[in-house]
Amino acid sequence: VKDFLSRIEARKNLNAFNFVFSEEAIKKAEEIENKIKSAKHGKLAGAVIAIKDVLAYKDHPLTCSSKILAGFISVYTATSVQKLIDEDAIIIGKTNCDEFAMGSSNENSAFGAVLNPIDESRVPGGSSGGSAVAVAADLCDASLGTDTGGSIRQPAAFCGIFGMKPTYGRVSRFGLTAFASSFDTIGPFAKSIDDIALILSVISGKDENDSTSVISDFIEYPIKHFNNQKIKIGIPKEYFAEGLDEEVKQKIFEVVDKLNNTGIEVSEISLPMTEYNIATYYILTTAEASSNLARFDGARYGYRSKQSGTLEEMYVNSRSEGFGSEVKRRIMLGTYVLSSGYYDAYYRKAQKVRRLIKEDFDKAFTQVDLILTPTTPSVAFKLGEKSGNPLQMYLSDIYTTSANLAGIPGLNIPIGINKERLPIGMQILSKHFDENKIFQISSLIN
Ligand code: GLN
Repeated sequence: VKDFLSRIEARKNLNAFNFVFSEEAIKKAEEIENKIKSAKHGKLAGAVIAIKDVLAYKDHPLTCSSKILAGFISVYTATSVQKLIDEDAIIIGKTNCDEFAMGSSNENSAFGAVLNPIDESRVPGGSSGGSAVAVAADLCDASLGTDTGGSIRQPAAFCGIFGMKPTYGRVSRFGLTAFASSFDTIGPFAKSIDDIALILSVISGKDENDSTSVISDFIEYPIKHFNNQKIKIGIPKEYFAEGLDEEVKQKIFEVVDKLNNTGIEVSEISLPMTEYNIATYYILTTAEASSNLARFDGARYGYRSKQSGTLEEMYVNSRSEGFGSEVKRRIMLGTYVLSSGYYDAYYRKAQKVRRLIKEDFDKAFTQVDLILTPTTPSVAFKLGEKSGNPLQMYLSDIYTTSANLAGIPGLNIPIGINKERLPIGMQILSKHFDENKIFQISSLIN
């Protein structure tokens, strides 16, 4: 813990943490050391873990990197965080992120941007940028992030580490501040696939506080590394079309060759609805966000405007001053697509397209076990490069949103670096609750 704390201090400029719990973590480490001595310790005894600042942790601040939650202290602990604590993990702090998890670069934060530790002039990805950087820069052993449209997989790719978005429903969302409830998932970042599997096995399971969580097949840990059983892999041709960086593409095909050489069957497949992913994602998630974020009214949580003479003034001024511009943009878009004149044209239609996207995957998984794609169209881009152009920024998620639309799991695997020594990531997708298969194959890749 002390080692990590001194590194956190030394790399403060990365801005990965919103809050560090130094004294508490040191005290906890001493307690756990004693538990280890008496051999009565949990599965994560001594593991030092950081959590994204959208997860509730009782008696600790919860800001979602937004001014509107300034000063708010959680009154309960998220189930996923409690499960880590119950297995004797040490929570070292809360990580920076895009405001309410909306973004792909971690530049939309009231705490300021997070820097990529590999090249500090570049973004770490987002929204869980702080969680990815905390692991990549060795500021903790592992971390939790959230993934609504790519926010674990994309920053993992930009920082060169593993990051897993589990099947929707595998991990309880209780205590996660809702962005788009039917898309939101919680998952781990780590430097090894074994750590990913271990943490996922700990945080999974049915929770009576989240009715969408399910009793799921358990995660095999230790992982049964590839045991030569027949696994078929599909490469969706739509994910290798225009817009994909050449070096990223080349690295992916090196991996495909490697798999081919071990006798694994790799074939081209088609996911014809791919072109509608981004539009469908942004209609549905903004709709859900506009409803979820209505609770931040200046009355209940955190920030209240000083100009709150009337009730209406309190609402309008607290929200105008408390939310950042990306969050406001999403609330407006979401309110628009849900409004009575446009509901059928946008929201209802997008719900139907979401079903078709899911059916694309259902069909593909009758032909193959796993789908392999790039995680991102490019390597980490420069700070400020896309922040003035929201549409460009939204395209960073072109390969990741589909898994959230369909509810399936996805893992980022670091597969190498480009000429500028920037990390390149590859995504593996499986059908619902087939995470074990993803883990098995990943040992062959990295
Ligand atoms: N970058 C995407 C967005 O801005 C995904 C965010 C996320 O997964 N939380 O919505």
